[in-house]
Amino acid sequence: MIYLDNAATTRVRPEVYDAMKPYFCENFGNPSSVYQFAGESLQAVDRAREQIAALLGAEAREIYFTAGGSESDNWALKAVAETCAKKGKHIITSKIEHHAILHTCEWLEKQGCEVTYLDVDENGLVSPEAVEAAIRPDTILISIMTANNEIGTVEPISEIGAIAHRHGILFHTDAVQAVGHIPLDVRAMNIDLLSASGHKFHGPKGVGILYCRRGVKLTPLIHGGAQERNRRAGTHNVPGIVGMGKAAELAGEHLEEWGQCQASLRDHLIERVLAEIPYVRLNGDPQKRLPGNANFCFRYVEGESLLIMLDQRGICGSSGSACTSGSLDPSHVLLAIGLPHEIAHGSLRLTLSEDTTREEIDYVVDELKKIIERLRSMSPLYEDFLRKNA
Ligand SMILES: *Cc1c(COP(=O)(O)O)cnc(C)c1O
Repeated sequence: MIYLDNAATTRVRPEVYDAMKPYFCENFGNPSSVYQFAGESLQAVDRAREQIAALLGAEAREIYFTAGGSESDNWALKAVAETCAKKGKHIITSKIEHHAILHTCEWLEKQGCEVTYLDVDENGLVSPEAVEAAIRPDTILISIMTANNEIGTVEPISEIGAIAHRHGILFHTDAVQAVGHIPLDVRAMNIDLLSASGHKFHGPKGVGILYCRRGVKLTPLIHGGAQERNRRAGTHNVPGIVGMGKAAELAGEHLEEWGQCQASLRDHLIERVLAEIPYVRLNGDPQKRLPGNANFCFRYVEGESLLIMLDQRGICGSSGSACTSGSLDPSHVLLAIGLPHEIAHGSLRLTLSEDTTREEIDYVVDELKKIIERLRSMSPLYEDFLRKNA
């Protein structure tokens, strides 16, 4: 099997799994209990909080554990809408955000908020000038993702954060695709709130964090016990939290090395595909992109058929995001960068990890060439196109 869908989820690293293991059958205590046996669980949670804070340039007490990226996104937006209701009801975001942001914004609109969904350019970049132009006296929050999960574009979030702060507006970023993959520093980048998820960088599924800068008011999304400084109720997912902490520590140690090796393989993949397959387009910014992301549109090819044929050869890829597959609508991200429906339908996202090898990439390109040729040979549209251009 060749796994090139690391934007959907990643393999738990063996070191992460080893770190988690004692917290199932041995140190199973509830970190909120008072006896010494449970103290080990509490220490483990605090250690993980420090490991994650260190990766982000944050303080440990600014990190709140959640059940994943979607919860963190919901929490950030809903809490700011609540705490800033007196100041205003206007939120600025982009058209290419993850559904955890877009659907939360749609829900908030039903509660009376107003949301501006900014356009992006043909590479998926949000313009800081457009953000500034959208600001109104009643704007309470700007939420722009750090890096896009489909096309890999890395947004100018430091600049956007600086604009937000100049206008006294809170800045949230969905950094689920970025944390553990590219360097981040919440202070230097003017970030007030940040969402991250364990399973996108070799931690376990079902655990995430919301970073909330000290001094920013955060009301609970989940009500109940006093966990997480009274802000997020629920018994801690101790093994999950330990795993996410270990994954953060490993990512911090290897960020540059893993990033460079992925970026060079990604460039090799992109170069070969663009050189060897006709009528193909690279989606996303050629430079400002995640080290492990490649996203293409092949004309006269249906994305779903392409995925099935890759799967038959043991290759796991994606047509966009895991959340949109199963629906026949083309990706909202590809439409937002200006692609017509028929081209957006022929998309393929291949996302690498630090374990990906050059041999795997070469095998995938060789197979891809054959599959695209096969699929096109069965397409009446492609025949028409060839005839017209003969
Ligand atoms: C995966 C993802 C999420 C959701 O995270 P979960 O932990 O799966 O809930 C949110 N935003 C982006 C950009 C993602 O890639």
